[in-house]
Amino acid sequence: MAVGRVRPSVTALAAYRPGKAASQAEAEHGISHAIKLASNENPYEPAPSVVAAIQAAATGVNRYSDHRATELRSRIAGWVGVGADQVAVGCGSVGLLQQLCLAYLDPGDEVVYPWPSFEAYPINVKMMAAAPVTTDLVDHAFDLDAVAAAVTPRTKLVMLATPNNPTGTAVSTTELASLLQQIPDDVVVLVDEAYREFSDPALGDPVTDLLPSHPNVVVSRTFSKAYGLAGLRTGYVIAHPELVMELDKVLLAFASNMLAQAASLAVLDSLEEIQPRIDLLLAERNRVVGALGDLGWDLPDANANFVYIPTSGRTDQIHIGLEQKGVVTRPFPGQGIRVTIGTPEENDRFLATLAEVAAD
Ligand SMILES: *Cc1c(COP(=O)(O)O)cnc(C)c1O
Repeated sequence: MAVGRVRPSVTALAAYRPGKAASQAEAEHGISHAIKLASNENPYEPAPSVVAAIQAAATGVNRYSDHRATELRSRIAGWVGVGADQVAVGCGSVGLLQQLCLAYLDPGDEVVYPWPSFEAYPINVKMMAAAPVTTDLVDHAFDLDAVAAAVTPRTKLVMLATPNNPTGTAVSTTELASLLQQIPDDVVVLVDEAYREFSDPALGDPVTDLLPSHPNVVVSRTFSKAYGLAGLRTGYVIAHPELVMELDKVLLAFASNMLAQAASLAVLDSLEEIQPRIDLLLAERNRVVGALGDLGWDLPDANANFVYIPTSGRTDQIHIGLEQKGVVTRPFPGQGIRVTIGTPEENDRFLATLAEVAAD
């Protein structure tokens, strides 16, 4: 029963379901030593210098954080090579996604995105009483002609995750440029690069390749995945200064907390230490892709820190089978299973367990 006159668009929403924790799977199945490969997290602890920065900042949390994360914005701007007024920092890139929706969507506006894609898109669009307009994937990849064709005068936003979650496929900036040619320049195009650090640099960089000629492009990135700060929440966007200004107006007060800002600055100070771990995850992804191929699975192109296995009709059986043996993955019912790349030992365990479960 609803309490008070809750908005119908909220009543209709399903709550976001995060990946299952290892401890929860252990309790449900009466097992121990479960591993979580369900949320595309980095399996490695932060670098000691990052932990030290968090500890040092902890004594200051009786004060509010810097609401605009000024120092972090300017450090990110220098790192990426844009002006400080082109960067917004938020509570995860999902926080910035919500700000984008708050700033741009009125009830009835349309938002186009391919589907399946990031599960936060429909939630944030529907929250605004706006209408998702989805296009089908072709061989698990985006059909950008279909995206262009779905844009109407009511379209305010286009959302494109590249690499895509959950399928792992990616689009190049050349392909994105051709999409941008086909749609009006008052449609804002979000290029969500949460997994950029795991993808081939030859796909291009939307910040240098698209943004200068297309002020309607917003590029979002995060410290949650490659940089291992999922639990602290730092995301950022690179966009035209006017768009950043609008996002700032709807920024939840102090959404970027003090520990997140300190840790993110420390990450930027220790990129040389962190890069080898990203390289290891990449090598592991390629190894897992090869091993799955040897097991007979036909996978879409893997460009992120996860693999997508098109298990279709066997999704439930394989997902539950894996979980009962302590390997927690993310199922997409009737379609496939998304498995995060973990440590080499975790990946070995996943591969061995999958071989057992799939043989059943
Ligand atoms: C994980 C993910 C995010 C990141 O979210 P944060 O809020 O930055 O942790 C954004 N987009 C996609 C497609 C993701 O998979």
